[in-house]
Amino acid sequence: MSVEAEVTTTGVKVELPKSYEDIKDLIRVDRLPHIWCPGCGLGILLKLLARAIKNSGIPIEKHVIVTGIGCTGRIGGYLKLDAYHVTHAGPYPSPLV
Ligand code: SF4
Repeated sequence: MSVEAEVTTTGVKVELPKSYEDIKDLIRVDRLPHIWCPGCGLGILLKLLARAIKNSGIPIEKHVIVTGIGCTGRIGGYLKLDAYHVTHAGPYPSPLV
């Protein structure tokens, strides 16, 4: 059973599983399906990160996600947060400049 169905930019109808109920407002359903390989753990990481943000007690609008190149960097594109996508090794020093 799904909690949300949305037609994405590619015209695919995507439904989030029920287990996404508590974080559905943080997921950019219109950008799904994701590009990760079947069995990749990045989807689990995305879900856990979204849940940690929700449970942090910090308002959503105060969060920023900084990502770099590579598969992991796509996480920023799937979250409804202000995002900063930078080059390799950039995510560590970027928030400091
Ligand atoms: S990290 Fe990238 S290449 Fe590796 S399994 Fe995940 S999506 Fe595939």
